Amino acid sequence: MPQHRPAPNDNPWAASDEEPIVRVENVTKTFGNTYAVDDISLNIHRGEFFSLLGASGCGKTTLLRMLGGFETPTSGRIFIDGQDVTHVPPYERPINMMFQSYALFPHMTVAQNIAFGLKQDRMPSLHIRERVSEMMALVQIEKLANRKPHQLSGGQRQRVALARALAKHPKILLLDEPLGALDKKLREQTQFELVNIQERLGITFIVVTHDQEEAMTMSSRIALMHEGRIEQVDTPRRMYEFPISRYAAGFIGSVNLFHGHVVEHNNDMVLIRSDEAGADLLVHHSQPLLSGMEITVAVRPEKIIVREQRNDEPNHLHGVIQEIAYLGDVSIYHIELASGKRVQFTQSNVQALAEQPLTWGQEVALSWNPYSCGVLSQ
Ligand code: ATP
Repeated sequence: MPQHRPAPNDNPWAASDEEPIVRVENVTKTFGNTYAVDDISLNIHRGEFFSLLGASGCGKTTLLRMLGGFETPTSGRIFIDGQDVTHVPPYERPINMMFQSYALFPHMTVAQNIAFGLKQDRMPSLHIRERVSEMMALVQIEKLANRKPHQLSGGQRQRVALARALAKHPKILLLDEPLGALDKKLREQTQFELVNIQERLGITFIVVTHDQEEAMTMSSRIALMHEGRIEQVDTPRRMYEFPISRYAAGFIGSVNLFHGHVVEHNNDMVLIRSDEAGADLLVHHSQPLLSGMEITVAVRPEKIIVREQRNDEPNHLHGVIQEIAYLGDVSIYHIELASGKRVQFTQSNVQALAEQPLTWGQEVALSWNPYSCGVLSQ
């Protein structure tokens, strides 16, 4: 997984007395019979890089557009900086939006595009020139000032759109798939630049993306959406390490899920019997769980260790390697257990080439630490 950024300001969202810059209260948006957004409540804090993440059609763009004032909620309220803006038009909100298409004016130069909103606000021309220069320096496009959009690459157009959206110094910038039009390499570079710019300006960024790696890399927090609702809101690390549901565990990264039932639970350790794992599973879990309860254990592929020998203690499985995918830095292995269940694990390719690698058809013993897995009851 990519490294996620450290959360700024020691988790401002954890400080209960701070008024969030965005407060969404029970917002629903329907289109005919479709619940695009279904009773969502959410707080976003000052200086956050907040991502709305989810599969196509989950409602993230509709929620973003309601924050921008481009759609009106069917019910519920939206507060920005303490003010109820539910029925306030976009141009009266302290917000700007960067559209996925960039929507640059084709007949204007780069500098004119960036200056456009400032002119409309009747900013004195000296100040406009200063602000445009400042913005072009920020996104490193000074040399392109006199070009028209059709004379720019996709990445350069994205920078112009960002400079234009930031020129008015909005309190909040909404970005709809800001890196969607860029190729993979450029997207990875630009992710870090976007985070640097956001941190330098201290503006709250709210980003729509369907790309989980992008959300993990850039965000202070992520709201994972599913069918118009919020599945989980958390920091990237917590979202990955402690997903609250099967959906969240499966959406962010790869995961092995083992069904079973609780045998006993004490001292923050729960013992689960799982026929499909062919072993008892021990998991660190502090919330009380009742004996007999049906439950799922989630284990990430990189937490699994290959053992020399078989062992019948909890969290020890045995199986046969069925598939290997060599990805250069890591290899992904699929093993089949006696129950027929397939388990995926990854190993980083740190060993010398001369060492004996794992191979197809080989029997292996696997295990993991009770602190490296989690239980899911949803
Ligand atoms: P994508 O990543 O594909 O853009 P999304 O998560 O942003 O998806 P939305 O665009 O918010 O999803 O759409 C949520 C649901 O609402 C979808 O079922 C969509 O078809 C529906 N929808 C969105 N806008 C409209 C509209 N103007 N009229 C009718 N239905 C709409």
